[in-house]
Amino acid sequence: MHSTTQTKPAHPGIHLSPQEMPLLTLEDILALRGNFIGAFVTAQSGATIDVENPATGARIAVLAASGAADVATAVSAARASFEEGVWSRADPSFRGRTLWALAMLVRDNAEALSRAEVLDTGKPIAEARLDIIATADGLEFYAGAATKVFGQTMPLPGSQMGVIIREPSGVVGLITPWNFPALLAIAWKAAPALCCGNSVVIKPSELTSLTALAIAHLGVRAGLPAGVLNVITGSGADAGAALANHPGVDVLAFTGGPVTGRKVLRARAELLRPALLELGGKSPNIVFADADLAQAVAGAAFGIYYNQGENCNAGSRVLVHEDVYDAFLAGLEVAAKRIRVLPPLDEACQMGALISAAHLEKVAAYVAIGVAEGARLVTGGERAIGAGLEGGHFFAPTVFADVLPSHRIFKEEIFGPVVTVTKFASDDEAIALANSTEYGLAAGVWTASLKRALRCVHEIKSGYVWVNTYNGTPVEAPFGGVRGSGFGRDCGMQALDSYTTWKSAVWAMSQFDDWYKDKN
Ligand code: NAD
Repeated sequence: MHSTTQTKPAHPGIHLSPQEMPLLTLEDILALRGNFIGAFVTAQSGATIDVENPATGARIAVLAASGAADVATAVSAARASFEEGVWSRADPSFRGRTLWALAMLVRDNAEALSRAEVLDTGKPIAEARLDIIATADGLEFYAGAATKVFGQTMPLPGSQMGVIIREPSGVVGLITPWNFPALLAIAWKAAPALCCGNSVVIKPSELTSLTALAIAHLGVRAGLPAGVLNVITGSGADAGAALANHPGVDVLAFTGGPVTGRKVLRARAELLRPALLELGGKSPNIVFADADLAQAVAGAAFGIYYNQGENCNAGSRVLVHEDVYDAFLAGLEVAAKRIRVLPPLDEACQMGALISAAHLEKVAAYVAIGVAEGARLVTGGERAIGAGLEGGHFFAPTVFADVLPSHRIFKEEIFGPVVTVTKFASDDEAIALANSTEYGLAAGVWTASLKRALRCVHEIKSGYVWVNTYNGTPVEAPFGGVRGSGFGRDCGMQALDSYTTWKSAVWAMSQFDDWYKDKN
């Protein structure tokens, strides 16, 4: 950790060290080394992973390449803190104040964290700032929730009293992807797990671990006891698999692709331990003939090109009524061509770099498949070129028209800035098309009719439906999928279900004998 000269006074009235707190700089975050297990420690093997800036190809940081032994150390630290009760049995209000303090530290350090997220992911700086602010929002939501993890009482026969107590699950393992690194690992997963009193081990994507490490480090300053929030870096095959297979992990929550999700679920099945899976999507965005077309075009472009289309809930399949198909398509082509693909630290950037060269190749391969299948390539379909883009993995905003439900590009998740547009003739057909893939994460509906919107909300098989908007995921609303998109929910008070267990306690309020006699 580099020392810095910038300082900021502690926030009054919250659980923070009274000393002046140095702000993190971007250089501090890039220099983070090792796993965070109460403090920074190197991987036991000494092995490391180079981290690349997807926008330039330059090496920006070096991470610990952890293995099973490092994961075991982190799980032991989490277990020890859980059993000691320093967090699990602490006053809920203390947990709430501590998470709130962490949120304020995230806000204080938002600019450096946002820039680190840009260098790690290639996303536009404006979008990274939204991610980091949303990370603080999530911590604040669950800070408030810490004092509201209520149990229940039971009406019971005889003179018995029954209570149902909600307990933290224990040690929670979190495996997260590279597209929204801080938001998913910290706000959507760690925060709800921590607010209930669990101890946590995060394994972020090896491509984007910096902000999780930095926020875990800030957690100590916020007052999180050592061992409560741990971060292990390393590959999925080594560190990720070791965490998923560890019998000391009571609950495992995973966000990532379906291939990895199956491996994680198999590991948990072997251990007879629960898992939550948030997997991918191929979300439909439906434009009915009565929609405000300008809004629908803007919403469809935002729905697919936000975060370069590397978004699990991207509106990657646009379904358009035949009466407005040509007009919509003309509008979407203009919107796609207008998007500013620029170096992501440029304030004017609207679309940055894809995460890696391998991922760009995958997206380009899907474009070739779409063309071979007979879909009409309207715009894009190739690398984006321009000043400052030379070393990075930039891809042009891409539109395919006349896409059929039989096409692979209609059914498979591309996870890039590629949208398919398909024509429909009736509401029944639109809903059938919406439900015709393996996935069920999210959907969008553009219509002036309340009745039509409500029908879609009821009949589309997904965990989320937007009406005349797209992409907003406030922490208040539970997020997750059905069918091939996984199970369990992040966000909302519903996320607490994932990280708590119910215990029933029954009291006899009279003599046990008397009660027995009464009943016989
Ligand atoms: P991925 O499945 O390759 O990796 C996700 C995480 O799993 C990473 O931390 C990785 O290191 C780890 N991992 C890899 N192999 C593992 C193994 N054998 N055992 C345990 N862990 C392992 O996914 P990705 O490429 O990082 O992210 C893209 C995918 O994530 C897309 O399919 C996307 O739709 C999905 N996603 C879903 C949501 C959601 O909320 N539903 C959100 C974001 C991303």
